[in-house]
Amino acid sequence: MSVLQQQIQNPTTPAHIPQSPAQILAKYHSLAPVDVMGLAKELGLSVWGTHSLPSSISGKIFRDSANGGSSGFSIMVNSTEAPVRQRFTIAHEIAHFLLHRHLLESKGALVDDTMYRSGLSTAEEAAANKMAAHILMPFSLINSLSNNGFNSVESLARQLQVSKTAMKIRLGIPT
Ligand SMILES: [Zn+2]
Repeated sequence: MSVLQQQIQNPTTPAHIPQSPAQILAKYHSLAPVDVMGLAKELGLSVWGTHSLPSSISGKIFRDSANGGSSGFSIMVNSTEAPVRQRFTIAHEIAHFLLHRHLLESKGALVDDTMYRSGLSTAEEAAANKMAAHILMPFSLINSLSNNGFNSVESLARQLQVSKTAMKIRLGIPT
């Protein structure tokens, strides 16, 4: 019997219906700036900021049975980089987790350099960047901010805590 069937037959018992990543993401797209740390945690990922990564590395996602979240994975982000950059890195690693879980499971870790190259294909990295942009800059939030007077690249970037370059790319404006 499915959880939903149990719930229908016994409506006084709250059913625990697992949320899909898309449902979880939708919740985080109601408020600017997107709470990328909360999102990671709810997806089962621990996030660690560290000064110990080499300057050539922006972040990584790796199997972490000791300290990882409920998924068994952690994200480590280079905290010497700018806060808006760290947010993008976390979103990029979340994107790898959602898009490339099978590769992550087999490799055990994906380590991204400052160009967000982790050894996956260019197409896979581009897909991760595109999803990271969607995570941090959903068009629903851009539109509602724009309707509330935040019309410039600078003001939208500030409201969503992303770099101006990232916002320009999202809006299709030449950088
Ligand atoms: Zn990557």
